[in-house]
Amino acid sequence: MKRLVILLVAAGGVAWWWRRRSSGTGSGESWSSTGATASETSTFEPPKLGGDVDPELLAILACPLDKQPVTRQGNYLVCGECQRHYPIRDGIPVMLIDEALTPEQAAAAPA
Ligand SMILES: [Zn+2]
Repeated sequence: MKRLVILLVAAGGVAWWWRRRSSGTGSGESWSSTGATASETSTFEPPKLGGDVDPELLAILACPLDKQPVTRQGNYLVCGECQRHYPIRDGIPVMLIDEALTPEQAAAAPA
C-alpha cells in the first residue's frame, strides 16, 4: 500500500515537471492564424453561353418535348421537330423546356 502511494506521488511529480517544461517553452510561440481571412474569393459567374459539347453526348441528346434529335446551331441545340433552342452553357446542354427558346424567341434574339 505504501509503495502505491509512492508511485502516485512520483507520477504526480513527473506530470508537474512535464507541465512546467511544456509551458515554459511555449511562451514565445504565437498561434494566431495568419492568412486565414474570411474573405471568400467569390468567383461565381453566370455560365457563359456556348462551349464545346462532347459529340457523343450530342448524338444521344434529344428534345425533351418530342424526343427528336437536336442539332447544334451556334450556342444552341435546336430540335428538328419543334425548333426549340436549348442553350449550351459552358459546354453543358441545358435540355429543359423552361430554359429553351421557342422558335419565335430565337427568331427575335440574335444568335
Ligand atoms: Zn422538340
